Amino acid sequence: MRLKLFAAIAACLLPAMACAQAPAEPPRSNPPRLLIVISVDQFSADLFDKYRPQFTAGLARLATGTVFHNGYQSHAATETCPGHSTLLTGDRPATTGIVANSWVNQNLSRSDKTIYCAEDESAPGTSSITYKASQLHLRVPTLGEFMKRQWPTSRNVAVSGKDRAAIMMGGHNPDARWYWDGKKFATDLGALPPPAVDRANAAVVAAIATPPPPLVPDPYCATKATPYTLPGGMVVGNGVFARAAGDVNAFRASPQFDGAVLALAGALVQDMRLGSGQAPDLLSISLSATDYIGHGLGPGGQEMCLQLLSLDRSLGDFFRFMDSTGVDYAVILSADHGGLDIPERLQAKGVKDAVRVDKNLTATNVGKTIAAKLGVQGPVLLGDVSGDVYIDEALKGGERARALSEALAIYRAHPQVQAAFSRQQIEATAMPAGDPVKWSLIERARASYDRERSGDIVVMLKPHVMPIAEPHAGFVATHGSPWDYDRRVPILFWRAGEPSSQPEAHMETADIMPTAAAILGLSTDFGRIDGHCRPEVAQCPVSQAVGTERGRR
Ligand code: ZN
Repeated sequence: MRLKLFAAIAACLLPAMACAQAPAEPPRSNPPRLLIVISVDQFSADLFDKYRPQFTAGLARLATGTVFHNGYQSHAATETCPGHSTLLTGDRPATTGIVANSWVNQNLSRSDKTIYCAEDESAPGTSSITYKASQLHLRVPTLGEFMKRQWPTSRNVAVSGKDRAAIMMGGHNPDARWYWDGKKFATDLGALPPPAVDRANAAVVAAIATPPPPLVPDPYCATKATPYTLPGGMVVGNGVFARAAGDVNAFRASPQFDGAVLALAGALVQDMRLGSGQAPDLLSISLSATDYIGHGLGPGGQEMCLQLLSLDRSLGDFFRFMDSTGVDYAVILSADHGGLDIPERLQAKGVKDAVRVDKNLTATNVGKTIAAKLGVQGPVLLGDVSGDVYIDEALKGGERARALSEALAIYRAHPQVQAAFSRQQIEATAMPAGDPVKWSLIERARASYDRERSGDIVVMLKPHVMPIAEPHAGFVATHGSPWDYDRRVPILFWRAGEPSSQPEAHMETADIMPTAAAILGLSTDFGRIDGHCRPEVAQCPVSQAVGTERGRR
């Protein structure tokens, strides 16, 4: 798909953008004046390793910096909200409090007992679907907040295809956060759209209203053009991003979407003059198309190939725009989690244990079995097919204990289940340390456990068991497991003129914040955080280097 997606939209947005112009040599100052932190949603290290030789533009540029291809979202709950909460806080989800995209609180006064990670559930008349967006649940500060403590004029701006990504990266006091609300870029901060957002929305609305540009098959991606028919009859793998004019959801799951978010980021850099103020600024960007394409078509086929090569070009255009501003900027790129391909394609590639989950394993169905056995009413269990499962609060005392015992027995006896831990077991486990590859499953669960928000049971399926029994449009594959295909993500650091290095060492995404702080010359005391500054890429304060102990907050 040889389209300049960033450029196509940016041309309407950035009158001063001159892509053909030679990049201005940025004035060297130390530290950089603008830090750009990019999250590519569902960009596993498996995808990065596989496609790295094909990248020629933005991702190729970042790959000339310091490349940790063994980055880890080290916890078990490998979902978007927990993953983004680790990127700029220096903490794991057990500390950020963002233990899942949503969790259950049976004591809520509203009828919907599910809480969305980025909502304020106290707002009257709301639900976890029709919510009031908020950073309320994020328990710790983000990098942008630490920057403002040291440099009060520092700006903190977040842009994303998803509200929860912008909210978790921007934290509690952003100057601006703009995200796709399903139809346009919007904010929950009460601000009127500045000209940059108005221009972006006008350009995107025009792009959505017209049919997508015809696909020109990429010769490399075409080698992956094998169709797979899924249970239910859907066909994936043929490299088609079907989108009728006006179809906003299909736009979101196409390579054009990331180009639009990057164009908005560029417009905000230009209008707000980010990186040109008295203090360093922070721009967080979360790009969601890779995730929507992974969920809708699986991450292992021709469509993901086309998406990642398109993302590479869009990032290349964005960085060329950044070069043209003359701002001395640094870039960090990582991901909120990885992903698992569809079992139908994995089977064809010889992954013999790849299978779709048994639908009898849903919390509802396991709950029904227990209800019949114990002779009790109600759902017994609340939750999904894996991850956090909650026992119905209506069950008390001995009934509750028996329900827990039965549930653990049913899960543990199922051939698709690797482990089922009770909250008592997880609470008795120390927060892990050291190489995240070596952590046990319960330690991975501990790193995303919160007493108020996590389930009474954490269920982990066996490797390559896809927790979607019946694929449907937009949802054929997913992530969320404690396995490394969902945990391992690239962590890339780049700045013009900096040397290249390729550490094989493991790095947690919680290490990004203290490392970024050192790159920026930020000397604020963070108190206790889970992550460590990484000396491979920054001059770390002695007190923050890997392996040192610091006082508890
Ligand atoms: Zn995600």
